[in-house]
Parts: sequence; C-alpha cells; structure tokens
Amino acid sequence: MLRTHTCGELNLSFAGQTVTLCGWVQKSRDLGGLTFVDLRDRYGITQLIFNMETNASLCTQARQLGREFVIKAIGTVAERSSKNPKMNTGDIEIHVTQFEILNASITPPFTIEEETDGGDDLRMKYRYLDLRRAPVMNSILLRHRMAQETRKYLDMQGFVEIETPVLIKSTPEGARDFVVPSRMNQGEFYALPQSPQTFKQLLMVSGFDKYFQIVKCFRDEDLRADRQPEFTQIDCEMSFIEREDILNMFEGLVKYLFKEVKQVDIPKLERISYADAMKYYGNDKPDLRFGMQIAELTSLVQNKGFKVFDDAEVVVAINVTGASEYTRKQLDELTEWVKRPQLGMSGLIYVKHNSDGTLKSSVDKFFSEDELKKWASATSSNSGDLILVLAGKSSKTRKAMSELRLEMGERLGLRDKNTFKCAWVLDFPLLEQDEESGRWHAMHHPFTSALPEDLHLLKSDPGNVRANAYDMVINGVEVGGGSIRIHDKQIQKQMFSLLGFSDEEAQKQFGFLMNAFEFGAPPHGGIAFGFDRLCSLFGGSESIRDFIAFPKNNSGRDVMIDSPSVISLDQLKELGISTNSPA
Ligand code: ASP
Repeated sequence: MLRTHTCGELNLSFAGQTVTLCGWVQKSRDLGGLTFVDLRDRYGITQLIFNMETNASLCTQARQLGREFVIKAIGTVAERSSKNPKMNTGDIEIHVTQFEILNASITPPFTIEEETDGGDDLRMKYRYLDLRRAPVMNSILLRHRMAQETRKYLDMQGFVEIETPVLIKSTPEGARDFVVPSRMNQGEFYALPQSPQTFKQLLMVSGFDKYFQIVKCFRDEDLRADRQPEFTQIDCEMSFIEREDILNMFEGLVKYLFKEVKQVDIPKLERISYADAMKYYGNDKPDLRFGMQIAELTSLVQNKGFKVFDDAEVVVAINVTGASEYTRKQLDELTEWVKRPQLGMSGLIYVKHNSDGTLKSSVDKFFSEDELKKWASATSSNSGDLILVLAGKSSKTRKAMSELRLEMGERLGLRDKNTFKCAWVLDFPLLEQDEESGRWHAMHHPFTSALPEDLHLLKSDPGNVRANAYDMVINGVEVGGGSIRIHDKQIQKQMFSLLGFSDEEAQKQFGFLMNAFEFGAPPHGGIAFGFDRLCSLFGGSESIRDFIAFPKNNSGRDVMIDSPSVISLDQLKELGISTNSPA
C-alpha cells in the first residue's frame, strides 16, 4: 500500500502519529508563511499544511502543486487551531515532512468540488472527473450499498441469482427494441432485452422457484429527463405463490433497504386500487405524502346555468388547506398555470373559504353561498382554506387536477424528500384499448393473468377485466411493478388472440414459452424494480443520471466516448448490411 490511511478517517485520536496519505489536490491556499492543501480521495478531504519557516524548500515545492495533481504525503497528525465542524477530519491537519508527486494533472475543465462551475455538457464529456466530485461519487456509492443490501435480503430469502442472455429476441414490454445484427446469420438480428421476462418465467418452469437478477434492460423509447435507454432492474420471480406472497416479500425488501441504507422505518404499505387512485388522485402513482384528495362535484354543480360546468364531462375540485388568503395575483398566476399547453385547461374556478366562515367564489353570479357550502362539504373544506375547481373532458381534467394537486402540495411544502410514503397500487385494468385502431393492448404485458373473479369477462367485456398486477409507488414515483402470470398454455393463447396475434404469429414469437407451459409450468409471478430510480429516490434526487456511473444524455448519446457512432463500410459489409451513406 502506498498509504497508511485514507483522507476521510483521521481525527484527534490520531494526533501525533505519522501517516502517509495519497490523493488528489483539490485546492491549495498560499498564505505567505503557510501553505494549505486540501487532499481528496474517495473517503474525504484532509488538510495538509506546509510551513515556510520550518521547511522552506518543501513549502516552495508545495506551492507548485496544481489542482488535481496526485500526490503522496507523509506527515504528522496535529490538532487544528481553527477547526471545521462540517468535515469529519475538520479537527486535524497534517504537518507534512515529505511529499512526492505521483502524477501531474492539466487544469481540469471545471472545478472538482461539491459545487462546480461546469455545465451539464462539459461534465458529461468529462464524466470521470465529475465522478470525483463528492455528491456524484456518493450517489454511486449509495447505489453500491443498495445493490449489496438487495442481494443480502434476497439471498436470505432463498432467491437464486441467475444471469439471462443479452442477445435475445424481442420481448413485448411495449417499447421499441434495440437490435444487433448477426454476422453469422446474415440478415437476422438479435434484440436486446427490454426485460428478462420470458427467461425468468422459463426458470420457474425449470424449478428454480425464486429467481433474481440485478440486470440491464434496454428500451428504445423517446427519452425523458428520468429515462435512460439502458437501465437496471431488480428483476424477481417466484413459484407456488399468490399475489399476497409477492406483496409481502417485496414490501419486506423495500423496508429492509430503507432500514439498512437510510435507517428509516417504513410502516406497513398502504394499498390502493387503481380505480381509487384515479378517482382520488387522478393518477395511478399517487403521491401519498399529503391528502388533498380530488372530489367530484359534477352532479352538484350542473344545471345551475353556468355553461362551463354544464358543458363539462366532469367537474372536480381539491381543497388547499390554509390558502384562503391567496391574492388575486396568485390566483391569476395559478389560472395561467393550468392554461399552459401541457395541461390545456380553459380556466380555473376558486372558492375562498374565509376565516370568518364565509365563502367567496369566482362564480358568485351562478352559485349562492348555500350552494358553495355544499362544495365545501364535498371537499372537506374548512375556514381558511381555498377550493380549486377544474371542469372539462374527463381524462384531461383529472390529469390536470392531479398536476395541480402536486403543484399545490409542492407550494405548501408537503412533499418533503426525506419523508417516504410507500404504497401498493392494485387491480390495474388488464387491457387498454387504442382509441384509433380499437386494438387491445396489455397494460402490463401479455403474460399477466386476470383476477380470477374477472376471468369470465375476458370475452364479453375485456375492458373491465382487472389484472392480477401490482405497482409499488413511493412518493408519487412508480418504483416497481409486476403480476401473477398466466401459466396455462390455452389461456396464454387466448390472451395473444385477444391482443390481435394470429395463432401463427403467437407461436412464432412466443412458441418457446407456450410450449414450456405444456411441461408442467408451476403457478408463478414476479416483479421488477427500476433500480436507478430507486437509488435516486433514496438519494433524494429527481434525476437518475447521477446514480449511473456513465449515463447517456437526453438524446441518448454518450458524449464522453461519442456513441452512437458510424461504423466502417468493412464492418457493415461483414455484417451483411448494405448502405448507401458514406461511413
Ligand atoms: N418485466 C416486467 C417489467 O419490466 C416486470 C414484471 O412483470 O416482473 O416491467
């Protein structure tokens, strides 16, 4: 070892000891007689001190050290005169007696400190330098901890970690596939897995019973801020279980992770049906850190002569606690907010529930105070509150109300990132219909079974069949989802036919799975968690990128290695791919 200690561990109990540290020069300050150097490694920062009076030549050399030089320093641990309580090592400094430059560094393109002056693009280009910064490095270290604790829990519960192939053929998770041309089978392509779904089901047929994998998945979707074309799942499957067993097992995993990684105790998870989530929160991943449930006022407010309400499919409202003092300006601003093209509402109606108990609305012309009292009781509004009302087409209005609820929750400080509300959302619809083509799509994926009590509706009323599926939602973020699977060949065939596959197509694409079901497939089900997202939630960040060592940017590019990139004509030829564009 070149070092005796790390830059994060020394404190007063080491005073007087001679130590050797290695690390990067984060910063140096030349105060005339004294030169201070902050030496950084993965574990922290330790202050080195060089004294002109006691060792002029060493101090002169130290003054030459540039940012990010890699050095090895030998010295004595001493108590600092001005301590820094914010640092683990803030009580001490090292009086350096000898040092060696292990490698020089050119000036980094941005400052490598907690707060940097580098913009996004620059930091992505020099990701290896950005990773030196404590907040980014700590995110990756958190991810490591999460992965290890996940393995520990699942191993303890008897799960077997099994790798599944990356070069496969299309899995129907609903996104586009990334494909890889096959040189040995020209004109044919592998697809990268959108998830190991079919393989994990086959492993159940094999009898592995409990499988897991922390696994890369690939989906060629349009990118959003919190999406990456390649991402990681904690993928799991179990045999001889019912939905309740899965819910308990993975509620256990999440509780374990919160306890071990964040020292947070999570109470038993709330359960909410998809139908209730949509009704009360306008959203299938409700943020349950706060109430502010959506109330439906439609029947209460229609046929009173107010055209906006009479023409609307739904009229919905939320009660915002303590906001009756909102000014005209604030209300105008909120109105503009709901009119933005993203929400597209035509306006916002409000009722101020004044502290003296009186009610004052923006539609007083049409509604008496007695009428407004009914609104107040429907929204559980009290004196001092503000009722906000939206009207319009059903799904658009509910969606807008869901956004408004989240916005008001944010403004009232009800969405603290250190509070965690975990819930299960259950009983999703099995199928959804494409408005244009009228075709049915599996809402989760085509291997999901129906709730046994709804199975009889599959032919007559497919839209009302509920799935034996579940999502885990934390603070309004969907962190995982899964289902009890179909394990019967005939039912699986029926499902494919409902989804518009001919028998031939189904056999061609998924024959391997349906055939396997003929050899004694056990009842089984599973779940997958979005690991990057789970890590970002634990890390208190909106962005999953910081939790991925080498992420892609918003256009799906890795700007550091400059990928994707063109390949040579020779390579293309070898793959049997003809192209007219010059490489
Ligand atoms: N394969 C599913 C997904 O990626 C999860 C599951 O059903 O287990 O969402």
